[in-house]
Amino acid sequence: MKEKIYTIPVNDAFNQPDGCALCGLEQALNQQLLDYYLGPSLMEPDVRQTTNAKGFCREHLNQLYNREINRLGLGLMLHTHMADLVDRLEPEMKGSIPAARSGLFNGRKKDYRDMLNLAAEQIERRINSCVICDRMDATMDRYLDVIFYEYCADPAFKSRFENVGGFCLPHVALLLRGAARYLNQNQASVFVADLTEIQSKSLKELRDDVEWFTLKFDYRNHDKSWKNSKDALPRSIRGLRGGQKPE
Ligand SMILES: [Zn+2]
Ligand SMILES: [Zn+2]
Repeated sequence: MKEKIYTIPVNDAFNQPDGCALCGLEQALNQQLLDYYLGPSLMEPDVRQTTNAKGFCREHLNQLYNREINRLGLGLMLHTHMADLVDRLEPEMKGSIPAARSGLFNGRKKDYRDMLNLAAEQIERRINSCVICDRMDATMDRYLDVIFYEYCADPAFKSRFENVGGFCLPHVALLLRGAARYLNQNQASVFVADLTEIQSKSLKELRDDVEWFTLKFDYRNHDKSWKNSKDALPRSIRGLRGGQKPE
């Protein structure tokens, strides 16, 4: 048996998902993590140590701020993270200042462009580092483990999986990577055939809904029904890129 903290959310997500079941899982997890980092844990020394070192990506900083709760906590956390940054950034940038060319010395050993690019890479690594993204990735991986385990061991779950109605494109890729990691060749063969069928069906439906959406602009179709195409654009955007439907 897999741990309940992972099986319960997975089973919830596959019960009548609205759109991609993995997006549903990811969004629920995202909310929990936002609550966690704005909650009492924010003052715990080991939590602060990680938030100081890693910080948050743009998306998660905006989400933390837009929650409009515990702005004091967010302020304290940002303050120590920035203090950490102040200590590290100056030496890193100073180290990349090119030596001025003079008649005696024609540059340093390393090309100055390499040194500037290196300093930029260090900053970029920092920008891309995010405590919440890291924990999301790790937990999504646990969820994948459960999905593949249940898919192979529990026929009821397999049938729910097959009737789930398609995944967003980023999560199709995640499922394929997961299949490579968690399934043997025979299991992968059944799983990927299944996934291909589910995905083709849902993409074709989406494609046709978008087409009908565009045809509704033709005056000859003005009085005809929208069928399932009224929200075809936001559903397509969600299907292509994942996340929530744009409002
Ligand atoms: Zn998704
Ligand atoms: Zn993030």
